[in-house]
Amino acid sequence: MFTKASLRLAGWYVAILLSLSLAFSVWVYNEASSELQQGFKGPVTVWLGSNGVDPDEALQQVFNQQVTAGQQRVTGRLILLNLGVLLVGGAASYWLARRTLRPIEAAVEAQNRFTADASHELRTPLAAMKTEIEVALRDPKLSPTETKDLLRSNLEEIDRMSELSQGLLTLARDDKPPRLVAVNAEKVMSGVIERLQPLAASRNITIEQQLEPIKVLADTKSVDCIIGILLDNAIKYSPEKTVITIRSQRQDGHALLAVEDQGHGIKPSDIDHIFERFYRADASRSKQYVAGHGLGLSIAHKVAESLHGTILVQSKLGKGSIFTLRLPIAQ
Ligand code: ADP
Repeated sequence: MFTKASLRLAGWYVAILLSLSLAFSVWVYNEASSELQQGFKGPVTVWLGSNGVDPDEALQQVFNQQVTAGQQRVTGRLILLNLGVLLVGGAASYWLARRTLRPIEAAVEAQNRFTADASHELRTPLAAMKTEIEVALRDPKLSPTETKDLLRSNLEEIDRMSELSQGLLTLARDDKPPRLVAVNAEKVMSGVIERLQPLAASRNITIEQQLEPIKVLADTKSVDCIIGILLDNAIKYSPEKTVITIRSQRQDGHALLAVEDQGHGIKPSDIDHIFERFYRADASRSKQYVAGHGLGLSIAHKVAESLHGTILVQSKLGKGSIFTLRLPIAQ
């Protein structure tokens, strides 16, 4: 599709180039012809006069021959010039057309991948629900308890699908950048800890706070969202009875908001990919199943970019990970 579009666009570029080149050639041809007609008159008259031939007639003949020869030479060169424009211009136009269309091609490719990934993710829970319902409908002795179990399981799948579609929407939306103001990072982090404390407690995980008061140039909702994702992951990917440390500190004019866990860590080969949509490292799939769609960190990355911030990852397999949100300090 894009090769065709590139060729079509290159065709338009060449057409414009050739029209300009042809117009220029016609102008050069006219100018050269009139110059030739002016330029031959003087010297030819002098030469003929000394040979005793009827000067007027012979003059006209020689003059016409010279002008025609001159015009042919000019025409030949102009044809060569236009062929050159066609060849060089054609190649340059195709290159330029590819370059112009490349960002659009990349965007369309990303969009297609996104749609394919999203439908793949939705297909699995839908297929599971369909099978469960079909099996239940075929069973003539289905008890009310079994029916309730089935409905409960379907409800869980529906919850997962709405979570997924919410995540997809956040990623697909092209929101306008948030207004950056001075935000009390310590306060936002404490709020997130309070919200996720019950989840940590349910797994016997202790959250330690080492919070230094820092005002960052950001947006409260965005900082809350990123720290929420990082802390939620730290809880999900940590074994029971471990400690998660939440830290805020200043460094080189920036604020570092860190979430450190004693979880199973991330393989170096996975670290490069964990911010990609739908990427889930093996550790989250094997051993015990940890719920998720692989969207949290891509959302956190997108939100951090809108704050001109970055998320840094340090991780040691079997020891734990530190995710640090680096943000500018508010003046
Ligand atoms: P999800 O948690 O839904 O799988 P994320 O995008 O939040 O999606 O994370 C992507 C992957 O990165 C996870 O599947 C997991 O393998 C890895 N990961 C993220 N945070 C941690 C962490 N604190 N410890 C270990 N692995 C992590």
